[in-house]
Amino acid sequence: MFSIADNLQGVRNRIQKATETAQHAPQSVQLLAVSKTRSASEIDALYQLGVRDFGENYVQEGVDKIQSLPEHDIVWHFIGPIQSNKTRLIAEHFTWVHSLDRAKIAERLNAQRPSALSPLNVCLQVNIDHEASKSGVTPEQVPQLAALVATLPHLRLRGLMCIPDPDQGEASLRQAFARMKALFEQLKEQYPALDTLSMGMSDDLEAAIAEGSTIVRVGTALFGPRPAKNNP
Ligand SMILES: *Cc1c(COP(=O)(O)O)cnc(C)c1O
Repeated sequence: MFSIADNLQGVRNRIQKATETAQHAPQSVQLLAVSKTRSASEIDALYQLGVRDFGENYVQEGVDKIQSLPEHDIVWHFIGPIQSNKTRLIAEHFTWVHSLDRAKIAERLNAQRPSALSPLNVCLQVNIDHEASKSGVTPEQVPQLAALVATLPHLRLRGLMCIPDPDQGEASLRQAFARMKALFEQLKEQYPALDTLSMGMSDDLEAAIAEGSTIVRVGTALFGPRPAKNNP
């Protein structure tokens, strides 16, 4: 039985080792703790160990936890599929959205972002493997959605995110991450302020970091296996 502190140390060691191997600066990769299905007290335990960025997939579940931890200076990231009737809660409660993949959602988030808050930081989700069932824009659609987001004053385009097909094997997974990096560098030529490539999870963070990830989204390796009931 590992404690959450041991798990965190293990994940930090993996990130450090992967950045060394890739010869990237140690601080070039951020840790986003994915806390879907986990309780506010489990989040607090990681917070007490120094983690400040947390990611949620379900809007109401995320907002409940945000409201139950009002004293915590947590940066909340929304990383799940976005339904248009949930955009207001996301715009009002989160600092980041990693999973933007539709013009209509971009426009709603922009319109609903309270002016008192800084612009919502946005990554475009890319369906890098062209999987039929997956969320995300195709690589070909990225420039068009990026151009729209760049015109919206209450959104700030920060980069790209992907969830590659995990069953494709190590070599093609690396290639998918490499295609994301190339797409990101191409987009940066037009938008030099882009700084975020959100890729890598518990099982593949080394491959993602090797190809240039700047933020890894880690759930299971920090909190242990998720209860099957809510596991999407
Ligand atoms: C659940 C989830 C993760 C974390 O997955 P683990 O395998 O538990 O690390 C990362 N990103 C997204 C979008 C997720 O839904």
